[in-house]
Amino acid sequence: MKLREFVRPSTLKEARAVLRELGPKGMPLAGGTALHFMRGRTPVTAVDITRLGLSYIRREGDFFEIGAATPLADIQRRRGPRWAMHEICRRISTHQIRNVSTIGGNICRVFPWADLPVVLLAMNARMLVYTGGKKRAEVPADDFFASQPAGRFAGGDILAAVRIPVLKAHHGFGSVKASRTAAAFSLVTVAALLELEGGRIASARVAAGSAIPFPKRLRSVEAALAGREPSAETFRAAAALAAGDARWIGQEGMSADYVRELAEVSLTDALARAAEFARGRND
Ligand SMILES: Cc1cc2nc3c(=O)[nH]c(=O)nc-3n(C[C@H](O)[C@H](O)[C@H](O)COP(=O)(O)OP(=O)(O)OC[C@H]3O[C@@H](n4cnc5c(N)ncnc54)[C@H](O)[C@@H]3O)c2cc1C
Repeated sequence: MKLREFVRPSTLKEARAVLRELGPKGMPLAGGTALHFMRGRTPVTAVDITRLGLSYIRREGDFFEIGAATPLADIQRRRGPRWAMHEICRRISTHQIRNVSTIGGNICRVFPWADLPVVLLAMNARMLVYTGGKKRAEVPADDFFASQPAGRFAGGDILAAVRIPVLKAHHGFGSVKASRTAAAFSLVTVAALLELEGGRIASARVAAGSAIPFPKRLRSVEAALAGREPSAETFRAAAALAAGDARWIGQEGMSADYVRELAEVSLTDALARAAEFARGRND
């Protein structure tokens, strides 16, 4: 994608007004690291959204709220009880890219290798979209990632923040990203949120991405976990059902069968990590 002009508004309201006026000739620009991957012959005007007060992480009641323009490096650096977002952020590309690349940029236009949509689906996150005035529409992850989110922003709306439910004491979270080298694009990314009750799995949210056409929840895996003991055997058996939800795609010289194996092993591992987390060994 080529840029024609660069505009730097000072408020969210102003940014939205400029974007609405520009229509298809403009785009919000956060870290700018995705320009390289975006096709489009006609140069556009970039509307910088990095100085609108959208870079922060704070606790808001039962949620962590992360401003849309928060760099991945800031999310990676944060630590604290019942917080798990740093785990996947430190696995995304290189330090240099994480310093500028933002959570909003990662999820407003989803590329095949995007890691955060997978994690936010598993965590049941809510996206807060600025639609003008004082309004921020709350969109659940299941709706936000039902299709490519970029279309939602074509009319000038801007993602303002992401809300992630604070993990409760009996909640556990685990994610696994498989890649050829530490900084390479994801081959398979999976994430799991388990709710344990009385030594059993009360509920589970499991999602996958990269090796499938678009990030999604694995409902068969979730159903197979509910009511079971959180054991290695349960996790292996549930992971084996993932192929019923996902059409794994061979890539980078790997066959689809190999990717399926890789995804199942990664899922088993993510579920085991989530159970460990829930037992309090990850704080
Ligand atoms: C070499 C390389 C390897 C990478 N590997 C991975 C990987 O393995 N896994 C991974 O998850 N990521 C990876 N990334 C990062 C990812 O591909 C994107 O480049 C990055 O997440 C985009 O973030 P950004 O802030 O730079 O967004 P930008 O490039 O600024 O914007 C991206 C898109 O989102 C829109 N946008 C941005 N913010 C908003 C907002 N608040 N509201 C509405 N629309 C918005 C923009 O208009 C644009 O369409 C990699 C990047 C590079 C360069």
